[in-house]
Amino acid sequence: MGKYDIVIIGGGPAGLTAAIYGARARLKTLVINKGPIGGLAHTTREIVNYPGYGQTTGPKLMKDFKKHAEDFGAEFIKDEVVLVDFSQEEKIIKTKKGKEFTSKAVILACGSKPRLLNIPGETKLRGSGVAYCATCDAEFFEGEDVVVIGSGDQAIEEGMYITKFANKVTTIVLHDEGALDCNKLSAEKAFANEKMSFIWNSTVEEVLGKTNVEGIKIKNIKTGESSELACQGVFFFVGMIPSTGFLQDSGVEMDQRGYIPVNELMETNVEGVYAVGDNRVKYLRQVVSAAGDGATAAVAAERYVEEINDFKANVLESEKSIILSFFNPMVEESLSFNTVLEKAVSESGDRYKIVKADISRKKTLAEKYGIKAAPAGVVLDKGAVIKQLDCSMDIKILNAQLAR
Ligand SMILES: Cc1cc2nc3c(=O)[nH]c(=O)nc-3n(C[C@H](O)[C@H](O)[C@H](O)COP(=O)(O)OP(=O)(O)OC[C@H]3O[C@@H](n4cnc5c(N)ncnc54)[C@H](O)[C@@H]3O)c2cc1C
Repeated sequence: MGKYDIVIIGGGPAGLTAAIYGARARLKTLVINKGPIGGLAHTTREIVNYPGYGQTTGPKLMKDFKKHAEDFGAEFIKDEVVLVDFSQEEKIIKTKKGKEFTSKAVILACGSKPRLLNIPGETKLRGSGVAYCATCDAEFFEGEDVVVIGSGDQAIEEGMYITKFANKVTTIVLHDEGALDCNKLSAEKAFANEKMSFIWNSTVEEVLGKTNVEGIKIKNIKTGESSELACQGVFFFVGMIPSTGFLQDSGVEMDQRGYIPVNELMETNVEGVYAVGDNRVKYLRQVVSAAGDGATAAVAAERYVEEINDFKANVLESEKSIILSFFNPMVEESLSFNTVLEKAVSESGDRYKIVKADISRKKTLAEKYGIKAAPAGVVLDKGAVIKQLDCSMDIKILNAQLAR
């Protein structure tokens, strides 16, 4: 069993960037990744929108990310996380190969995967005409005929984007003529776009082609008739699935689709657990935004780990009794109370050490000691609560409370 400061689950661009920042801050950092390093980005033959790289390949970019993290001392193992226990401060992570790790902070960087239709030819021709991301791949279909499968917001908006490059975009729609699943505005724009056309009441049965996409086999669900349509590209927009199934009973909040909501520090609802990249609720799912998330979470996690270490050294292991004084920078009375408290402690012959905690930031700590508002004070001896202070501004009352 290994003990870490930060365990990162997932080694795509989000996880690898978190590893760079975590390891550089000299935290003991482990990345657990189940597939090839680089995640979805590894499967991308060309990346032309990562700053500073011009044109590169996904595997090359991800190799550079990994080397960068390794150079700073991050550790890697190839394994799948199947179970986590986030109920204690030391979080437990269990893998498919039977390994167990504990960590102060955990960064969830598991990404998401496109929902597959699982029709013949789809997997075989992935990257050779079969695509799942228009922002990434549309420009490779300059002047070509492309098919889009799906009619939701993503399908129609991405289809419109593809028309900037392609000769023609044919959308295969399950519904009756005129009915799209996307919002009305997108539908109006799509109908007005000369490069967009629609095949109604239909589904795609097969992607045709030996080494590259050459066409698709379409089935009309009303008549049952099959037909073929020649094309060079097929974009599947039948949804994405976040890889968060193993978090089901972890206490980490997820939305109905399994994406994790976070705040601007990438914090989930569980203290010390962060979510970054494609597995979180977000607007833009790209390498650059995944990397940004990873950096933010690792810096936030670094501060969290530092706070845990400081608390352990200054409070739990302190030789002196501690007065944990909760203040709120926005509440003047709580700031003045600290001045009176310092005087009282000095008059007690410095038998106590004051540790100040900003209640607006240290919510979990406040919860732990049942503190709801500032000013508030708790007297501790080796972490055990001796008494709650009556936070009077009258120094005599304070002195009486601090007298043994
Ligand atoms: C075909 C395609 C082309 C793209 N092209 C571009 C492009 O040109 N430019 C661009 O910026 N973006 C592109 N994207 C988007 C980009 O790849 C993603 O936004 C990015 O990879 C997300 O990074 P991530 O780290 O969040 O997740 P991922 O890259 O999905 O990485 C997640 C990693 O976590 C691992 N994992 C999942 N569950 C577990 C578990 N339980 N235990 C251990 N490991 C686990 C996965 O195996 C994977 O390695 C493309 C996407 C696709 C599908």
